[in-house]
Amino acid sequence: AKEIGRNNYQFFTADMNQQIMERHLLETDLRRAAERKEFQLYFQPVIDMPEQKLKSMEALLRWKHPKLGSVPPSKFILLAEETGMIISIGEWVLKEACLQIKAWQERGYQVPRVAINLSARQFRCKTLVADITRILNETGVSPSSLTLEITESMLIQNVDEAVEILTQLRLMGFELSIDDFGTGYSSLGYLKFYPINILKIDRSFIQNIVSEPNDAAIIAAILAMAKTLKVAVIAEGVETQEQVTFLTQQGCNRYQGFYFSEPLTAEELESKLCASQ
Ligand code: C2E
Ligand code: CA
Ligand code: CA
Ligand code: CA
Repeated sequence: AKEIGRNNYQFFTADMNQQIMERHLLETDLRRAAERKEFQLYFQPVIDMPEQKLKSMEALLRWKHPKLGSVPPSKFILLAEETGMIISIGEWVLKEACLQIKAWQERGYQVPRVAINLSARQFRCKTLVADITRILNETGVSPSSLTLEITESMLIQNVDEAVEILTQLRLMGFELSIDDFGTGYSSLGYLKFYPINILKIDRSFIQNIVSEPNDAAIIAAILAMAKTLKVAVIAEGVETQEQVTFLTQQGCNRYQGFYFSEPLTAEELESKLCASQ
């Protein structure tokens, strides 16, 4: 037993060391990723039903690592957040999205709003509004071209401060959206305090909606409340026709998910844009 215990311990530490090593290597590479032009923005359509129109799109960050290949955000966003790198990465994302919007507009397209994910650290950054304003001025893009996505958990701590920042952003002309809605363990009632335009129902509720009465009930409650508050709803992670049928019956009409489209490159997305009149 003693022997096994020691082996387990050795195995455990070797594994730990490996994890620390990997994290360290990833951190070093992440610091250089922007200047080495390894980041790329993808755009996932949000579809308005039943017209099947492109209502908006979400900008999603991709890291093309020279050795590891495509590193998903789940592998590096938390690290970026913990090390503070998310501030400069977030600025890169916003600027890149604005440059892309501008390029599409100059090519004569009508460009629906592009949603940007703001991390908790960005949201709490004292210079958030100034940084955003600077990037919009540099690129010549209007706040009316953008939606800012934040998560519930960012709103729970320091409510007064959050309301103040959100009100300021709304007055500037940004659309505001609560991402991963339903995962924050907060009460639905607090929503009335925030100047929010959109709720995005988290994929975890959509996944088993057809078979899980509890998830279906939660979604029905969210849709009813959103209607009362005059807030739009996007169902995230929609993968099947059955989910769309069910959600449509419940009164949902905006969808984002692989059923309609995976995240696309700017070039691929462009083929879905319409010429402006
Ligand atoms: P999110 O904001 O909830 O973004 C939606 C995620 O769900 C994306 O994953 C998207 O590819 C995926 N998705 C969309 N439709 C489906 C579907 O039908 N089925 C399944 N299984 N997945 C679907 P992605 O791009 O890997 O991003 C993961 C998370 O990383 C995002 O979740 C967001 O929290 C974060 N993230 C991505 N880009 C950025 C960024 O630029 N800044 C920040 N701060 N976070 C980002
Ligand atoms: Ca999002
Ligand atoms: Ca989400
Ligand atoms: Ca998510």
